Amino acid sequence: MAKTNIENPADSTAAGAKLCTHCNTRPARTGQSYCRDCHKNSMRQYRANRNLEFSRLNNALDQLTRNNTQTRRKFAETVGTDRWVIVTSEAGDQFHDFSGYVMGFLPCDQISILDEHGRMVNVPLKQVVADVNRWYPEDDATGAEAAAERIKLFRGSANQVSCR
Ligand SMILES: [Zn+2]
Repeated sequence: MAKTNIENPADSTAAGAKLCTHCNTRPARTGQSYCRDCHKNSMRQYRANRNLEFSRLNNALDQLTRNNTQTRRKFAETVGTDRWVIVTSEAGDQFHDFSGYVMGFLPCDQISILDEHGRMVNVPLKQVVADVNRWYPEDDATGAEAAAERIKLFRGSANQVSCR
């Protein structure tokens, strides 16, 4: 029953040891098909690919949820660099004009705006202009009055973003 010939795992250089299936020159690690160097390289490659894939996904998520390059560029062209904005309502909108702060750029020319009441509203870029007169209520008393006059209807979180 007793084994007389126990394989020595450290003895990978012994004659008859398998060669690395990658470089075919150095002995493979015990129980593995690659040698130490090839294993190290393949792990490095694997991690690099994994990190690259992660940043690709992260960027895709950014583009979809808060930092769409195209929408951000259009915002810069039509509104400017100031993130304090006025949103003007159009017929059929379930909100009235309000002031707010741009929090994100969504696909399809949609802008995420934090309104005077701390709510996030998504509106089309074409309804957004720079807040040159500072409507935002914290800025001055008249702004606060104007804000109080504006009816507090909120579009809700069910905004559908659709590319037409
Ligand atoms: Zn190798």
